[in-house]
Amino acid sequence: MSNKYAGGCDHIHTHSNNEPIDIHTCHCSVCKGVTGQDTTHVVFFNHGDLKVDNLDGLKRQPFNAKNQDGPLELCTCSDCGTPIMLDDKEGRIRVIVPNLMGYDSESLPATYHAFYDESAGAPAPDDGRPVYEGLRPDFVWPEPA
Ligand SMILES: [Zn+2]
Ligand SMILES: [Zn+2]
Repeated sequence: MSNKYAGGCDHIHTHSNNEPIDIHTCHCSVCKGVTGQDTTHVVFFNHGDLKVDNLDGLKRQPFNAKNQDGPLELCTCSDCGTPIMLDDKEGRIRVIVPNLMGYDSESLPATYHAFYDESAGAPAPDDGRPVYEGLRPDFVWPEPA
């Protein structure tokens, strides 16, 4: 039995058998700070679709260190430190960064660029995908699970 999308580390496994609800290339400063990458490939799943086999093994910390009360928590493995997912305290989404969280990036292509800020000085993306200053305008946050 294999899952459609799966990742994690040796201690904590995550998977989804449903399609993600949004996949983008994120240009925001929070992702940059957390991942150390110029852009971050981000996949949103409905909260209930991304399953975790060992929730107790997660270490949780605010995703945005400057916004300790923000809804997103970065969950890492308390054993080996691997980033496992971002969990939404409001129960709407769970977020995977495929190349850091054990997923196959190729199977989850980003459809647009999010949070691109011209004033930050980075060159505009020129791969033909739409570029937005936030999430895509038609993105709708799911209801809390
Ligand atoms: Zn971001
Ligand atoms: Zn681990």
